[in-house]
Amino acid sequence: MPNEKPESSDAHNNDVRTVNNFLRDQIAEDVRTKKYGDAIVQTRFPPEPNGYLHIGHAKAIFLDFGLADEFGGKTNLRFDDTNPEKEETEYVEGIKNDVHWLGFDWDRLCYASDYFGQLYEWALQLIKNGKAYVDDLSADEIRKHRGTLTEPGTDSPYRTRSAEENLDLFTRMKKGEFPDGSRVLRAKIDMGSPNFNMRDPVMYRILHATHHRTGDQWCIYPMYDFAHGQSDSIEHVTHSMCTLEFADHQPLYKWFIAQLDIFPSQQIEFDRLNLTYTLLSKRKLLQLVQENRVNSWDDPRMPTLAGLRRRGFTPEAIRAFCGAIGASRTNGTTDVEMLEHFQRDDLNHRASRAMAVLHPLKLVIDNYPEGKEETVEVANNPEDPSAGTRRVPFSRELYIEHDDFREMPPPKYYRLSPGKEVRLRNAYFVTANSVVKDAQGNVIEVHCTYDPASRGGNSPDGRKVKSTMHWVSAAHAISAEIRLYDKLFTKADPNDFPEGGDVLDNLNPNSLEVLLGAKLEPSLAGAKLEDRFQFERVGYFCLDPDSTAGKLVFNRTLALKDSWAKIEKKASG
Ligand code: ATP
Ligand code: MG
Repeated sequence: MPNEKPESSDAHNNDVRTVNNFLRDQIAEDVRTKKYGDAIVQTRFPPEPNGYLHIGHAKAIFLDFGLADEFGGKTNLRFDDTNPEKEETEYVEGIKNDVHWLGFDWDRLCYASDYFGQLYEWALQLIKNGKAYVDDLSADEIRKHRGTLTEPGTDSPYRTRSAEENLDLFTRMKKGEFPDGSRVLRAKIDMGSPNFNMRDPVMYRILHATHHRTGDQWCIYPMYDFAHGQSDSIEHVTHSMCTLEFADHQPLYKWFIAQLDIFPSQQIEFDRLNLTYTLLSKRKLLQLVQENRVNSWDDPRMPTLAGLRRRGFTPEAIRAFCGAIGASRTNGTTDVEMLEHFQRDDLNHRASRAMAVLHPLKLVIDNYPEGKEETVEVANNPEDPSAGTRRVPFSRELYIEHDDFREMPPPKYYRLSPGKEVRLRNAYFVTANSVVKDAQGNVIEVHCTYDPASRGGNSPDGRKVKSTMHWVSAAHAISAEIRLYDKLFTKADPNDFPEGGDVLDNLNPNSLEVLLGAKLEPSLAGAKLEDRFQFERVGYFCLDPDSTAGKLVFNRTLALKDSWAKIEKKASG
């Protein structure tokens, strides 16, 4: 018997989002009318520890923790660990780590498994009250009895068992007398209900499996639907926020709460975050990891918080994004560029500037004295004067980007080409004169002359140049590996595939490009994992944990260009 929670729907309509959200309004109203008397606003974030958190969970965390905080309330972190087969301690630790990283701290750390004893007692109570029965039908037969959208279900022949017989069988299920799948405990509600969840849902199944916390203490496990609502109730959760696919389950949670006469938590549903070019389902993300489509849960191409962190995303930007998308009552899809836009904005303010040449081409200044070197002073962050300045070495032989030189420049190409003068950032004006080629005719070296009077990057005679280029002194450069990331999927909706196809068919084969010979300014040798850089004219980068003292690896968080800003501009006019 699978214990699956409802699958998210893959609706992809574009609705208009508002920063204000109805959840806040509802809580404010409940506080005003004292719906829960003087009780504080209590929320919870209830992940199932069956994978790492993704950016969709960030939205839920932001709402659960953020709204409780706004109203002076509290938030529990509760692991919904009712499924021993898929859950692991590694995920529990990963989730705790991610919630902290996002900048939130829970009041109580709870586990649904802490409530197994209480849930069992409640099951006994329902049996005694004639509201639950042991069913010997197989999972398959139960499914067949369930009916369809247009036809009611049919009663199981075991539905009329006496409370005594049910008590006897259920206690023996718990003692381990029966094999897996031979019996279940079902709620006795209404096989004719238009809501499938009310057609005598399964409450308990037999499963001889070791649980990550309760070990072998139990061989029957509550279904998610029998655990979730009561867990909220036990914790006196006032506002139980969850995604829209749980709306049809709300009547069932209310039914259990009413039958047991326990604290009436209020469930409120909001829209799941869907992002273009992004898959947000732990189950699917696990498949990517297991099939080695990505390297790990924290592969920088993954939409997991661990992956985004390694990629260089910051909690500040993710929170700003979550605040901007708000919450709504209908599912839609958000452009991934919007998330990137918030990240660029944040990095633009915090990232130290540095010069790095990803595809190096040697530039030799013929009239610069051999053996001479000097340092030029450059601002660490023009957006933030308090970030100070640093000195960067300059010498006769430099590296520039391959792309910044053309022997035969196309029209409007303002960068370096024979006879053309450009500025080397913060240093000098240089004019290209000649090239050296390899046997295949590729340019491998450019020779130029510099104007010593233009030191600092300006010519005293007021001469203008149309291009400013970054560079690295060859003798002082450090080599590094650079990892460039592109979208993991080629389709805006990864689930858009033909019949018989698979979401994995839409994987982008070029989502990772590794550059082995990049040349970086020497200050980057001291980079730390938490540092954020803007490699000038290239993009935002951070150090990858794969780095060793002898070999640095940098991840490109994002390229500089902000397509979201363009989309927004287009939309507004
Ligand atoms: P997944 O299918 O990715 O595993 P889930 O809903 O099964 O998601 P849970 O571990 O149950 O994952 O999620 C914990 C909380 O996060 C739930 O309240 C759920 O509603 C919410 N959540 C999960 N995915 C999203 C999403 N994409 N957007 C907003 N909230 C989400
Ligand atoms: Mg799930």
